[in-house]
Amino acid sequence: MFDLMLRNARTIDGESIDLACKDGRIAARADRIEGAAANEIDAAGNIVTPPFLDSHFHMDATLSFGQPRVNQSGTLLEGISLWGELKPTLTVDAIKERALELCRWSIARGTLAIRSHVDICDPGLLAVDALLEVREEMKAYIDLQLVAFPQDGYLRDQNAAEQLTRALDKGLDVVGGIPHFERTMADGGESVRALMEIAADRGLLVDMHCDETDDPMSRHIETLSAETNRLGLGGRVAGSHLTSMHSMDNYYVSKLIPLMAESGVAAIANPLINITIQGRHDTYPKRRGLTRIKELLVAGVPVALGHDCVMDPWYSLGSHDMLEVAHMAVHAAQMTGMAEIRAMFDAVTIDGAKIQCLDGYGLEVGCNADFVVLQAGSVFDAVRLSPARLFVVRRGQVIATSSPVTSELNLDGKTSQVDFTLPNTSAFASIR
Ligand SMILES: [Zn+2]
Repeated sequence: MFDLMLRNARTIDGESIDLACKDGRIAARADRIEGAAANEIDAAGNIVTPPFLDSHFHMDATLSFGQPRVNQSGTLLEGISLWGELKPTLTVDAIKERALELCRWSIARGTLAIRSHVDICDPGLLAVDALLEVREEMKAYIDLQLVAFPQDGYLRDQNAAEQLTRALDKGLDVVGGIPHFERTMADGGESVRALMEIAADRGLLVDMHCDETDDPMSRHIETLSAETNRLGLGGRVAGSHLTSMHSMDNYYVSKLIPLMAESGVAAIANPLINITIQGRHDTYPKRRGLTRIKELLVAGVPVALGHDCVMDPWYSLGSHDMLEVAHMAVHAAQMTGMAEIRAMFDAVTIDGAKIQCLDGYGLEVGCNADFVVLQAGSVFDAVRLSPARLFVVRRGQVIATSSPVTSELNLDGKTSQVDFTLPNTSAFASIR
């Protein structure tokens, strides 16, 4: 007797499957599984995917929109100073309350793993304490990976080094950084080297805010890649944002991307935020500011996507829907080919899981029984429509449901239904 049976589903590769869950894991996967389960759900031919992942987020700031005021210029720097105004008024309870609400939004959207950066520059480490509690309280539903992030600069803020040590001792999972915010290029490089050594000593993953600027000379990703090589940390290090790569000299990039590929550094782009925050000093033409996702993928550099912000000092919009993020990446990076749309879907699912080094992720027998049934017949429609998450399953339990979305028309006295799929989109059922 299984705990849960999913019937009549289709994988993102177009294969028809049933999935049987037992003791929190996928116990069987086949075209048709014989046997009963305590609970059975019918996918009705829709696709099932492993859960969505957000590979770059700020849970300490989320849902604080308008506190104490709104970012008028929309720039990164006004966002950082606004966050500085908000910080002295924060309490553990207020941070927790907002973060827990965000977790509820995420679950409803089928996002069951989040890597969140946590500002460690507040001497009280309130956000660290709050998010460690959230990680523990929500662990049955969401994998929360916490990055020790020196928002005010590891060297620029004279207390950051000690604060970072305290935060890691409390149990944060990943070493962060922000080299482009240090006072000089040399300080930026020094901060990368120091933080990489801390990660190597402690056996931790690394994810730095790296070159989040339109300055083509911001080249800390080169140092991050070289340090990854030197310390043998390939597969455990990510550079987030990398927006300066958008503006870099092409000859320099022809040397940089192979170095990144060789070192095993991953790239995490945040298309919603990058497209709105970068290029703000430009008149026209205005740069998009997104990193070179297409070229990185061709070179074999793993790429994941993050939402980065939802209703905070940097970004007022969003509902933590990772399909919205993939949709923006398809547009802003001009990745409209079928294989490219699939790559952006993978960047919010399986490729994010590899970069976050998550165990038990996937739909194979033995994996965690975590999956999402979408109101869509293909990856193409999933990215095009950002459809309802009909069932969200965690460890074999249904933890969220949404009703299918349809609209009813009344034209010339006749009623008909519109669901925004076309009969001929079966051609896109399988995008590999
Ligand atoms: Zn960020």
